[in-house]
Amino acid sequence: MSDPDVLAHLEALRAHDLPTHGGRTLAYVYDSGLADADAVGRAALASFGATNGLDPTAFPSLAAMERDLVALARPLFHAPDGAVGTVTSGGTESILLAVQTARDAAAVQRPAMVVPTTAHGAFHKAAHYFGVELVAVDVDPTTMRAVPAAMAAAMDALADRLVLVAVSTPSYAHGVVDPVGPVAAAAAARGVRCHVDACIGGWVLPWSPYPDPWDFAVPGVTSLSADLHKYAYTPKGVSLLLHRDPALRRAQFFASADWPGYTMLNSTMQSTRSGGPLAAAWAVTRHIGDDGYRVLVDRTLAATRELADAVRATDHLRPVAEPDASLLAVATDDALDVFTLADELSSRGWFVQPQMAFRDLPATLHLTLSAATAGGLDDLVVALRESVDAAVAAGPVVVAPELRAAAASLDPATLDDAAFDGLLALAGLGGDGTVAVPERMAPVNALLDAAPPRLREALLVAFLDRLTR
Ligand SMILES: *Cc1c(COP(=O)(O)O)cnc(C)c1O
Repeated sequence: MSDPDVLAHLEALRAHDLPTHGGRTLAYVYDSGLADADAVGRAALASFGATNGLDPTAFPSLAAMERDLVALARPLFHAPDGAVGTVTSGGTESILLAVQTARDAAAVQRPAMVVPTTAHGAFHKAAHYFGVELVAVDVDPTTMRAVPAAMAAAMDALADRLVLVAVSTPSYAHGVVDPVGPVAAAAAARGVRCHVDACIGGWVLPWSPYPDPWDFAVPGVTSLSADLHKYAYTPKGVSLLLHRDPALRRAQFFASADWPGYTMLNSTMQSTRSGGPLAAAWAVTRHIGDDGYRVLVDRTLAATRELADAVRATDHLRPVAEPDASLLAVATDDALDVFTLADELSSRGWFVQPQMAFRDLPATLHLTLSAATAGGLDDLVVALRESVDAAVAAGPVVVAPELRAAAASLDPATLDDAAFDGLLALAGLGGDGTVAVPERMAPVNALLDAAPPRLREALLVAFLDRLTR
């Protein structure tokens, strides 16, 4: 294929992707609306694509840019002068490293951590990878915020096994900031690390009027993660993990001289890693700058407040919590369900992410607003109201009681490949070793919502397995 053909083919492949720009995709992507910022990011990404962060002495430009980004972040998060940081590939890697570092520094038998139930799934992944038990403490069901007294009680129950406590600023699912002060104080009183997951809020809260201290200004906060590939509007593949001092970071580093090749020396989970995302982040953060982020955050937060007001003023809908940042979770009454509502919005060109019910928390719609969403807010509100009317007219998806009962009694550990094929077919996701995603996802989502968490996980893993065969 000629180069123009190759590129045209790539563009054609994207035909069924969600739009990355335009502000109508309210999860996964972040659009500043600044074409110049995107262009400078793409140029930097391309020019550093072949560099390798494996050895910072071979590519000192990468080490310099990493130090610059950490220096940029330090005052944003009130980090003391001695604070150190690492650029990682994303929020999940930052969180994995925070957990691994806490585990290895503590070096206790059967390590455990305490998080609110709203903590990001990356903590569960870390627990799974690193053999750290995760104790998830229920949040306050009216505010969706962590409950410090309940978290302190969970810490005490773990005693010497406790290696880490974490909170979110804000939580992905509900967009509220946990009470960092009391939780970090409880962790510090027990001599344990406290991680602030500011993956999504890290490039919003510093320019917002959020009143309470939530970062390194809080004594007892030992590490913080902030994703640049979210609200710093840089191309994907960049997050920051900061530690209050170098001693707290030490166990994050890995070296191996136990083989005949180069002595392996890594600050992150990756070894060879492109300098592209790092250079792009360096370029975009400089291009937008402090004043630029202030404007983007003002615009985004104003839109979030306006959208929350519009939701409140719409029959059958309510914001699940007052948004502390730029994320909004919306619940419905019994006249409709969030899954049908998501499909209706999708058919009107707006992508929102359905979130399943969890313990006593309701199923919700998740909306991540970015600066580019602000310009289309009136259209979004119109689409939302039309979608509510359509979803009410359709009525909530009904999962047959016998199906619900069957789902509750299935033990995924006893199911073989054929059984999963049958279940995927039943769920409307294909069958016979192949899968397909239907246009309307509400019936699938309602069924998945009715499935207990272990079964839902197993079904989706079976789906992914077939999608990637
Ligand atoms: C996005 C997010 C993460 C995970 O980040 P990835 O970049 O998707 O790996 C972790 N925590 C919170 C609160 C997030 O919003």
